[in-house]
Amino acid sequence: MAIRIGVCGAAGRMGRNLVEAVGEHSDLQLSAALVRPGASLAGTDAGELAGQGRLGVALDDDLPGALAQIDVLIDFTLPEATVANVEACADAGVPMVIGTTGLDAAQKARVRQGAEHIAVVHAANYSVGINLTLSLLATAASALGDDYDVEVVEAHHRHKIDAPSGTALRMGEVLAGALGRNLNDCAVFGREGRTGERDSNTIGFETIRGGDVVGDHTVMFLGLGERMEITHRASSRMTFARGAARSAVWVHGRAPGLYDMEDVLGLRKG
Ligand code: NAD
Repeated sequence: MAIRIGVCGAAGRMGRNLVEAVGEHSDLQLSAALVRPGASLAGTDAGELAGQGRLGVALDDDLPGALAQIDVLIDFTLPEATVANVEACADAGVPMVIGTTGLDAAQKARVRQGAEHIAVVHAANYSVGINLTLSLLATAASALGDDYDVEVVEAHHRHKIDAPSGTALRMGEVLAGALGRNLNDCAVFGREGRTGERDSNTIGFETIRGGDVVGDHTVMFLGLGERMEITHRASSRMTFARGAARSAVWVHGRAPGLYDMEDVLGLRKG
């Protein structure tokens, strides 16, 4: 029997792609499409909004009602909505796939608490390519070591509300880990004015926002006499949506715990 999926944030940019990705996956069935409480689109058919034709699933703001009839909730919304949803899912025993980025430390702690009761996949980026890129970054940083300056440059569309991207921060964590550093101590976010010379122990982040860029990330390793760059460019949100759909199949029936896409893809080392 197909796994029954609820998509939370179904009217959003990612939500519409998720409705499409769930529809094209033979193991999944869209059973609920949730929108912000009081949203004017409530009642609209989720498939029609996503350009997929009528699916017979209306956009709804009744999360408790939806939790009674789904097996997994996929949530790409806002940090404050996501943490409330984790608590509701933990109470209802419904596992989650979370794509929301920009959570602060307290919000991440609430997700971790929820994951003591249910299985939660929370990844900053659900594309297969980005998760392979994370492995390549760890290899490169370990091999190049402290002699190379590391800078992370990312670009996203004009509507994105958090910076740097969750993916850029995840890249920073992987790079810092491979270099034996703590990202909280070595991250530098943007530069302006009289900055002084670059501290070789830092990892720099630069952010570009504009247009309809789906998501570009470049990590530069800058040495004396050479420079290496590893770049990933997403050209369609469907790459994230398909990864989230794959994660929903993986998380269904999984033991409580906090997982990420590296677990889903079997890329986790050790
Ligand atoms: P968006 O603004 O287009 O969509 C978010 C939707 O969530 C909106 O329609 C909003 O009304 C809705 N929402 C807010 N509160 C809600 C609630 N309580 N219940 C139900 N719906 C609610 O944004 P987007 O571009 O779709 O991105 C959403 C999130 O996903 C962002 O945090 C973004 O960074 C992240 N994202 C993650 C990945 C990934 O691979 N992990 C990829 C792309 C985007």
